[in-house]
Amino acid sequence: MAKDLLIGSHVGMNGPDYYLGSIKEAISYGATTFMFYTGAPQNTFRKPLSDLKIEEGRALLKEQGFDESKIVVHAPYIMNPANKSRPDLLELTLNTLTSELRRTHAFGAKILVLHPGNHLGLGSEEAINNLVENLDTVLAQDGTDVRIAIETMAGKGSEIGTCFEDVKKILDNCKYPERLGVCLDTCHVHDAGYDVNEVDDLLAEFDRIIGLNRLLVVHVNDSKNIRGAHKDRHENLGYGEIGFEALCKLANHPLLRDIPKILETPYINENAPYSEEIRMLRDEKFIPGWKDKYLA
Ligand code: FE
Ligand code: FE
Ligand code: ZN
Repeated sequence: MAKDLLIGSHVGMNGPDYYLGSIKEAISYGATTFMFYTGAPQNTFRKPLSDLKIEEGRALLKEQGFDESKIVVHAPYIMNPANKSRPDLLELTLNTLTSELRRTHAFGAKILVLHPGNHLGLGSEEAINNLVENLDTVLAQDGTDVRIAIETMAGKGSEIGTCFEDVKKILDNCKYPERLGVCLDTCHVHDAGYDVNEVDDLLAEFDRIIGLNRLLVVHVNDSKNIRGAHKDRHENLGYGEIGFEALCKLANHPLLRDIPKILETPYINENAPYSEEIRMLRDEKFIPGWKDKYLA
């Protein structure tokens, strides 16, 4: 691998190669890490682990020199872990989270990204309490060493976890704080109102409120909307309201050296943009018009 920048993108996991295919996809982008879902993100149906070519995948990872502890799994976003008003949905959340922790562990990964959920009019205080209670229930009987990274959210609809203070509250109130960390999404914090262009100030603020030692993952995305818009629409690097310079500075920041940086920028005419985006971040050089070849 060219340089030790810990950078990758979300990758698919489809038949016939499943996990082995995910890793091949990451390698094709020149990535040094990646993120994946253990099944479709929008539902909780999951294929048995024995079908997913995990052994073959892990062997390839080892051969390629990937650090398995930096590989990221994203939990399905269908559930609302901050809600407990409907027993059937609560059961789905608890079962899904329990099973995702086990599945993450089975892949040899250590980090599971979780959207904290929506308050649906309850207000974020009550929703945070629900989330903490649900995390405690799941973690009390979980035997893995996987850490749950609570993702910072844009504030679309009634999303919770839109400021560092609220994320800190979640970490502090849980009975198992050592099992929790944070996923900082640049599009989400920008949409929530933070100034991502002031990279050092942003990290200082994160460190002051939460602590950089709790940061487990950074999602590197540009945003289609202005700061504070609460929209959550990702954009390709250099084509949005944050811009390449700040995202590049963040991705290459010495304080984030050991933290996996993951791109979740949109496909362009059904083409993955990640080879180009990874190359530009690694070279610390924006190529004007880099998207044009996909737009023809
Ligand atoms: Fe996410
Ligand atoms: Fe994200
Ligand atoms: Zn998003």
